[in-house]
Amino acid sequence: MAKKQFKAESKRLLEMMINSIYTQREIFLRELISNASDAIDKMYYKALADESVVFEKENYYIKVAIDKDKRTLTLTDTGIGMTKEELENNLGVIAKSGSLAFKTENEIKDGHNIIGQFGVGFYSAFMVADVVTVVSKAVGSEEAFKWESKGADGYTVTAAEKATVGTEITLRIKDNTEEDNYDEYLDEYRLKAIIKKYSDFIRYPIKMDVTSHRPIEGSEDNELETYTEEQTVNSMVPIWRKNRSELTTEDYENFYNEKRYGFDKPLKHIHISADGAVVYNAILFIPENTPFDYYTKEYEKGLELYSNGVLIMNKCADLLPDYFGFVKGMVDSEDLSLNISREMLQHDRQLTLIAKNIKNKIKSQLQSLLKDEREQYDKFYQAFGRQLKYGVYSDYGMNKDVLQDLLMFYSSTEKKLVTLDEYVSRMKEDQKYIYYASGESIERIEKSPQTELVSDKGYEILYFTDDIDEFAIKMIMSYKEKEFKNVSSGDLGIEADENETSAEEENDNKELFEAMAGLLSGKVKNVKASKRLKSHPVCLSTEGELTIEMEKILKAMPNSQDVQADKVLEINVNHDVFASLKAAHTSADQEKLALYTNLLYSQALLIEGLPLQDPVEFTNNICKVMV
Ligand code: ADP
Repeated sequence: MAKKQFKAESKRLLEMMINSIYTQREIFLRELISNASDAIDKMYYKALADESVVFEKENYYIKVAIDKDKRTLTLTDTGIGMTKEELENNLGVIAKSGSLAFKTENEIKDGHNIIGQFGVGFYSAFMVADVVTVVSKAVGSEEAFKWESKGADGYTVTAAEKATVGTEITLRIKDNTEEDNYDEYLDEYRLKAIIKKYSDFIRYPIKMDVTSHRPIEGSEDNELETYTEEQTVNSMVPIWRKNRSELTTEDYENFYNEKRYGFDKPLKHIHISADGAVVYNAILFIPENTPFDYYTKEYEKGLELYSNGVLIMNKCADLLPDYFGFVKGMVDSEDLSLNISREMLQHDRQLTLIAKNIKNKIKSQLQSLLKDEREQYDKFYQAFGRQLKYGVYSDYGMNKDVLQDLLMFYSSTEKKLVTLDEYVSRMKEDQKYIYYASGESIERIEKSPQTELVSDKGYEILYFTDDIDEFAIKMIMSYKEKEFKNVSSGDLGIEADENETSAEEENDNKELFEAMAGLLSGKVKNVKASKRLKSHPVCLSTEGELTIEMEKILKAMPNSQDVQADKVLEINVNHDVFASLKAAHTSADQEKLALYTNLLYSQALLIEGLPLQDPVEFTNNICKVMV
């Protein structure tokens, strides 16, 4: 019989499983039970759509059986089963849940990360078994097939006998080694405990033959006999129907993992039992880590939607606004019809109510996290802060009121992330604006000349290092009646200092600045004496709405238009270079004036991280002043 090869990626994953040093091997059982439960769910949907299929709940279960002599563990389910093709396609290639190709070589070697982040589904069986046999009969099919693999060198699929529809997976448990004891996966109590831990809320019974002892009837000296009885190991009551007070954080975490909402630990859970205008239960999670595909098109937001305990949609996107798209979890409502279509759902009044309700709950949960558990909130913000800022910006700022209190930015004075509210509460009496500075990194902004005056005044500055920051703030416009002001904008709203240049001096300089502006025409709108520079010789500021950071971002976008911020070259008249400029001007040394002007302009561009139009000319110019 011809052996088929696994696809390359699958083979690597398999090898990793076989040699796994992952400590939590026990999760293989959760993965297999979860697959079995999914397969029964599929049967249920089929029954909904197809009248010839009847779904009698008592016929659906998962059975776990141990054979110590043969060292096998068998999982049987009465789910939808797999055809020959499905056995090959589903078990021959790596699960779609996460692409191995995405991971770096190091992570793959370690293995721990992959198992931790993606879970590995069916292949996890190879962590504990050296032979895996799957016999399956698909619904509506007369034939059954057997898939078998001893690991990475391939698998076989052959015809098999199976009376009933469903799947039976047999694991030949590995022999013990010096380091590892695999016997535990043949131990009834241990397996029961694993099922309880991870799969307690599976909606179908997970049955096991359980050995107990009882006194022999009629026996005088309380003699005991051993007997075996089939028991349902899981409680089956869905966690969301339980009382919050009965549940521990660990219960919620297990549910999160069992549902594969994520393979991290949730940062926070929200359990809602709503009894008002619309009746529903929901368990929502704020994940701790950003899913690897979160900021890509591939990421699909949504919550699982149940109608009266039965899953009707895997990812109901309408339940979550985009800006809370990171939230995972489920909603169960009695008020929803079972076979409601996707199109109908969008207009469903109940669903709209639930969505609104959920949105408010998430917001208030985040607010209390911010207020009471700042460290946790910082963690959350690290992972999803960008999403909130996008949320403020998108839809023409429609949602800014929901989100603005949740935003944080790095503060020049506090040296950490602060909220707008905290900023405003610290504002100085004479301070008119909320000041911010944009740049590539905190370090760069810290050194930027434009911040000098505002910092000198003792005003706090918010550092915008994310592309989206400035755009989001433009949508908010003002917070608690305080407008935002970029430190490089023309008018900073700061009263002039006493050592202001006199009118006479200004007039004197005017000619020089006009001459410089002439030399830089088309590049800057204006050249003027700076009010914000203290120690630096030169900087760029902007007039109007568009700032330099925004210009950079817009220019970097595909199909960008030729956008230009209206730039002003500001010169520090108290700096020594200004004397040189003046000397060149008064001695009518045009060449020197042009050289200095170009050099200063180029320096201002470099400080902003803007490209020089002609770097060769720039270096030549520098050489000119050196010799
Ligand atoms: P995932 O469950 O993440 O899709 P798995 O590797 O666990 O990945 O399983 C791959 C596929 O094999 C499943 O999506 C399902 O289609 C199929 N499958 C696995 N176990 C069963 C089962 N017990 N009954 C029917 N189909 C199954």
